[in-house]
Amino acid sequence: MSYSVSPIGFVRSCFKEKFAIPRQPQLAPAARGILELVAPFDQGDAVQGLEQVSHVWLLFLFHQALEEKPRLKVRPPRLGGNKSMGVFATRATHRPNGIGQSVVKLEKVEAGRLLLSGIDLLDGTPVLDIKPYVPYADRVDDARNDIANAAPRLIAVQWSDAAQVQAYEHATRLAEPLVQLIEQCLAQDPRPAYQTPSPERHYGAQFWDVDVRWHYPQPDVIRVLEVIAANR
Ligand code: SAM
Repeated sequence: MSYSVSPIGFVRSCFKEKFAIPRQPQLAPAARGILELVAPFDQGDAVQGLEQVSHVWLLFLFHQALEEKPRLKVRPPRLGGNKSMGVFATRATHRPNGIGQSVVKLEKVEAGRLLLSGIDLLDGTPVLDIKPYVPYADRVDDARNDIANAAPRLIAVQWSDAAQVQAYEHATRLAEPLVQLIEQCLAQDPRPAYQTPSPERHYGAQFWDVDVRWHYPQPDVIRVLEVIAANR
């Protein structure tokens, strides 16, 4: 038996590639985006009342990780990428129906679009449904998860003088909290856990329309080297 679903909208996100996106929502409050609703949901009626809600659940498709063959076990990056686990014990992107869910902050409600922050979604992500977060039902005070029992450990993020000036200039142009976004995302240490970084090796990712490049002068320290216009 199969069912068909269709997107109610698409996310325009600060994240233009998967690398360096936080592994869960809320880890980078400066990660912002816009959910653009499609017809017939692109009218005020569909979001009427949502301005009374601070956070929403988004159900979405991992459109850049869809696979033909279902996996029973996955290797979550959280466990270093070398330990496998039942797919239903993880929040990995490789899922039976490619469905993700994230609770994100609702900054503003407008007819046809929702302004969001704290997102962990790639640009272009198709959204299947929106549901208001209901604190009395969704918050579980005595919940535990012994696989992922705390937020990822943060590492130090330092700036070269030039990169900091560049970041502030692009932040002003974009009218976005770009410096905070870079610091919050890089502090999560996006590097694959199996890689021991050498100071010579440079890493990069695109946020909004800028390329950010960094290296690891020490294993647990990131230094941002440049923030330049992306030419992709
Ligand atoms: N909070 C969601 C959940 O639990 O279902 C997503 C968790 S998943 C571990 C988060 C990662 O999904 C991000 O770090 C990013 O690399 C990836 N991602 C985000 N949007 C995606 C998309 N549209 N297609 C494929 N991967 C995506």
